Amino acid sequence: MLLRLRKNLSRAELEAVLGLARELGYGTRFLDGGREILALDGVDGGPEPVGAPDHRARFEDLAAVSGVLDAGESHELFERGEGRADTVVRVGDAAFGGKHISLVAGPCAIEDFDSALEIARAVRERGATCLRGGAFKPRTSPYSFQGARAKGLEILAQVKLATGLAVVTEVLDPRDVAAVGQVADMFQIGSRNMQNSALLIEVGKAKKPVLLKRGFAATLREFLLAAEYVLAQGNEQVVLCERGIRGFDPSTRNVLDVGAVAYLKRLTHLPVVVDPSHASGRSELVRPLSRAGLAAGADGLIVEVHPHPEFTHSDGEQAIDLEEFRLVAADARAIAALDGREVVAPRTQGAKR
Ligand code: PEP
Ligand code: MN
Repeated sequence: MLLRLRKNLSRAELEAVLGLARELGYGTRFLDGGREILALDGVDGGPEPVGAPDHRARFEDLAAVSGVLDAGESHELFERGEGRADTVVRVGDAAFGGKHISLVAGPCAIEDFDSALEIARAVRERGATCLRGGAFKPRTSPYSFQGARAKGLEILAQVKLATGLAVVTEVLDPRDVAAVGQVADMFQIGSRNMQNSALLIEVGKAKKPVLLKRGFAATLREFLLAAEYVLAQGNEQVVLCERGIRGFDPSTRNVLDVGAVAYLKRLTHLPVVVDPSHASGRSELVRPLSRAGLAAGADGLIVEVHPHPEFTHSDGEQAIDLEEFRLVAADARAIAALDGREVVAPRTQGAKR
């Protein structure tokens, strides 16, 4: 590992770095006369100890260290690594990653049983394998509709039974992980909670797939380290979701970071999906952004769909109707075929009612 140290360190600050290196079994050697670049390697010229993923973070935390120039053998669990195959995350019929693309669709929020069932049946018919829909909604204003909560979970459970679709729904609070996990096949962690470490640890322990949405002002490293919290609990089933970052132009709700999708596919073995609905905030942009995301290498889409967007309780202006979703799904199949991938089709039948 290679560290850059700050200039003019006190003896105590320098000793903190050298002491930690000794404690972790590294030998130390300055590479420059100014004593700013410190190499950590094996003691007595031996091979560098294989760093646990936390070694880098422990050095970064020291006041004397201004940066880690090369993390050496200290690998984080999200890293793609040489020759490492894509992680494929399976949720019901859906599979994300490798050659598999899957479509998650549904309303922003679960409102009532009839509309949830109508939407679920319609999106399944058009190629979705997972139903999205918030029972607990993270709203910017405390006065906005906060979701149907426990009733919403009940509706999701019934719709899952009736359609065979896997359920993706958001959990906002570590205390709700058990209850939401009774119904969810995949926990959604929302943009506002991406760095809620208590929540990430709790869903990590639950050992169920997690859809982790990028914070709207999070760097890619912050995003990947949030995923690391889940992975560090022994839960490898994490799907990253690019949902747009905050820009300066109010024309669209957020800015879809297509470059991030392509770059994440290089940085990590984890699958990446795109949410064109929250990225744009405008239904007419959902189809083109879906195309862009998949063309950049995304392993799936999560899209807000509603047969009557004008009557939704939340995010109506970005919901697409059923015909538009049919077109999005057709585009996805065409783009998948371009690079030898496949959109996974729904197989599981719902229970007869
Ligand atoms: C959502 O998907 O319903 C949602 C609230 O999205 P985000 O967390 O990306 O804002
Ligand atoms: Mn929404």
